[in-house]
Amino acid sequence: MNDNFGHHVGDTLLKQLASRLKENFGTNALICRWGGDEFIILSKTTNKKQVEIIANKINTLIESTFIFDGYKIDLKASIGVSIYPNHSQSIEELISFADVSMYENKHTQKTDYVLFSKDLAEKVQRDFALSSAIRRVVPRKQLNLVYQPIIDTRNGECHAVEALLRWEHKGKAIPPDVFIPLAEKHGAIREIGYWVLEKAIQQQKLMMQDGLNIKICINVSIVQFEDAEFVNTVRNMIDKYQVDTNLFHIEITESVFSSDKPKLLQAIKQLQTLGFFISVDDFGTGYSSLSVIQDLAVNIVKIDRSFVNKLDSNGAAIIKAVMLMANELNYKVVAEGVETVEQKNKLKTLGVHYLQGYLFSKPQNYMDLTNQFGASFQSIAETTSMQ
Ligand code: C2E
Ligand code: MG
Ligand code: MG
Repeated sequence: MNDNFGHHVGDTLLKQLASRLKENFGTNALICRWGGDEFIILSKTTNKKQVEIIANKINTLIESTFIFDGYKIDLKASIGVSIYPNHSQSIEELISFADVSMYENKHTQKTDYVLFSKDLAEKVQRDFALSSAIRRVVPRKQLNLVYQPIIDTRNGECHAVEALLRWEHKGKAIPPDVFIPLAEKHGAIREIGYWVLEKAIQQQKLMMQDGLNIKICINVSIVQFEDAEFVNTVRNMIDKYQVDTNLFHIEITESVFSSDKPKLLQAIKQLQTLGFFISVDDFGTGYSSLSVIQDLAVNIVKIDRSFVNKLDSNGAAIIKAVMLMANELNYKVVAEGVETVEQKNKLKTLGVHYLQGYLFSKPQNYMDLTNQFGASFQSIAETTSMQ
């Protein structure tokens, strides 16, 4: 707020917000500002139904537009709740538990508020333990890349493989959905991201030596693009290994488009100039901007698994729309998460260009892939005949 409108607006807004809260709660609650844009509201009730009513009230108060100095400002509240004495008898702990719940609410945005729970406490503890371990994964050589084939619907051949990261920590596989956000939050993604790129480039080099002409798709988090040296570092790697950039797709998620990020778009364009292809991952799950897809001349749009899962309901309609635009905007389409022959057939009928999913192969290390499909990957085409 201060960055966009200046401190004066930020201060006035906080005062207005405080009086809104005070007016509405009167003497029924103690209201304090905890710092920044965080408030603590101490209410006498311990009844969960009452808690819900209070949370809804706070949401309504904060979400109704603030108007002053010619500005119209819309805010969104994140609310965390802890209850005395159920969660703790210590005021410090109660505040810290409410804080943790508030961050969970901010992060997931799934509910109006988050009530502290044993599960949340465990998640916080687990995330805390993983957060310190994640900083050491590269030097400790705990990472591994697995590859999942992406199949061409025209002939059943393997068009590309997607490189997917695996982390084994204390004998347990930690899913990337869990550790990538932590690595992003704690700055470890930079080192991890470069490790992934270098490993994938080395793999491509080996595949070329084996006479395989298969592209590798690499997931790149938008946080990696914040590194001013990102494009240069990638360029240096390409020079070092002398590989053809046309053999790589950089997969970025839709969140790239959610806000104005001119530097990020510039970095993506520089990668394109170097010859990299660009794919938009998890299409349909977030904020999509067709103009950015057009502006960047995105090469591939990957339709999220959730649409493939509901081909019998509205999934098919969305995919049809994406296919209609494909010709106009000149991109190709991959459907993710294909698990059944029926899905494969339907997607093929809809004209989807490429398919990826457990039906063809789970992500596996490269050796297992070649053991299963042969060094030339030819038998993928045989086992997945698109006729
Ligand atoms: P993604 O890029 O959308 O990758 C596809 C995910 O779907 C993978 O999950 C894959 O194993 C899974 N999948 C593929 N086919 C099927 C299927 O038929 N059914 C089901 N149920 N799942 C299928 P995974 O490997 O757990 O990766 C999850 C996410 O983590 C990725 O989603 C990607 O966003 C992120 N990720 C993985 N590796 C990297 C990486 O090297 N860098 C970055 N920044 N993110 C990565
Ligand atoms: Mg991906
Ligand atoms: Mg995806």
